[in-house]
Amino acid sequence: MAEALVEARKAAAAGEVPVGAVVVRDGEIVGRGYNCPISSHDPSAHAEIRALRDAAERLGNYRLPGCSLYVTLEPCVMCAGAILHARIARVVYGAREPKTGAAGSVVDLFAEDRLNFHAEIVGGVLAAACAGLVAGFFRAKRGRGAAGSRAEEGGGEPSPGDTALMENRPAMPSIEISLPDQTLTLLDEAGHVLRRYPISSAANGPGEEAGSFRTPRGEHVVRAKIGGDQPLNAVFSARRPTGELYTPEMGAQEPERDWILSRILWLSGREPGFNRLGACDSMRRYIYIHGTPDERFEQAPRSHGCIRMRNADVAELFDLVPPFTPVTIRA
Ligand SMILES: [Zn+2]
Repeated sequence: MAEALVEARKAAAAGEVPVGAVVVRDGEIVGRGYNCPISSHDPSAHAEIRALRDAAERLGNYRLPGCSLYVTLEPCVMCAGAILHARIARVVYGAREPKTGAAGSVVDLFAEDRLNFHAEIVGGVLAAACAGLVAGFFRAKRGRGAAGSRAEEGGGEPSPGDTALMENRPAMPSIEISLPDQTLTLLDEAGHVLRRYPISSAANGPGEEAGSFRTPRGEHVVRAKIGGDQPLNAVFSARRPTGELYTPEMGAQEPERDWILSRILWLSGREPGFNRLGACDSMRRYIYIHGTPDERFEQAPRSHGCIRMRNADVAELFDLVPPFTPVTIRA
């Protein structure tokens, strides 16, 4: 379960609900996975499914008899189904999930006589640590006024007493973007300047309306971090790496293209009616801080709405900011 918690922390670091899973055979970990439906655009990308896929690929078998699955949160209906199909012998979970749990909390698929396979199920292992991770994640998110409810789909509301994560929460930096100065400043929790970078915001100037190609103003948070495992100049399309590395020759072939390179910090507004929800929602407008072709970068308003940065700069910034870092954009 300690290893499943390691996976869960990877999900938290990516801004996903922190749930992790491992598959074990003969005392050895043969599969690992953490929850990442938001960043992978995959409603099935739960920790258990990813750990089962990893194990099945490694063992070269779609069935995993004799294996145990350890997961930090009670499995949902989808994952319980996959566990049964994989013929997992034993499921060990941490915290109960009162809203979606399929091992007794809402339904109990593992005890359903009419199904043809049954896994042994053990609950409540390291439950406080597992629940605390999820509770701390949502508390941190609410505390920073983060927008968006999609991440809450898997989370539920574990017992409020578990605050293991919050107690040793690292200091939270913040980002200030000045459109007049065309700069991005990273500040530590005490407000000291850590870094300052040149940026390029919208050629059309500031504005919040969808379709305006303007840069939104006001309070935001980093909603998701994408591309941490990619090389500099990796090309993204719809927030996925295409596998290409940008070259100036590629840029010359598509001079009008709005290249998204290296890293993406996806922003969400925190001010309902101004930059959040409705026709002015920064997240749904896909407003990012992202890398842009270095040879074309100018510290001047040139973008289609996003905040463009040099590739080395955005990669450095990416590593310095956790998910839900506050971002203020001033015009
Ligand atoms: Zn699930």
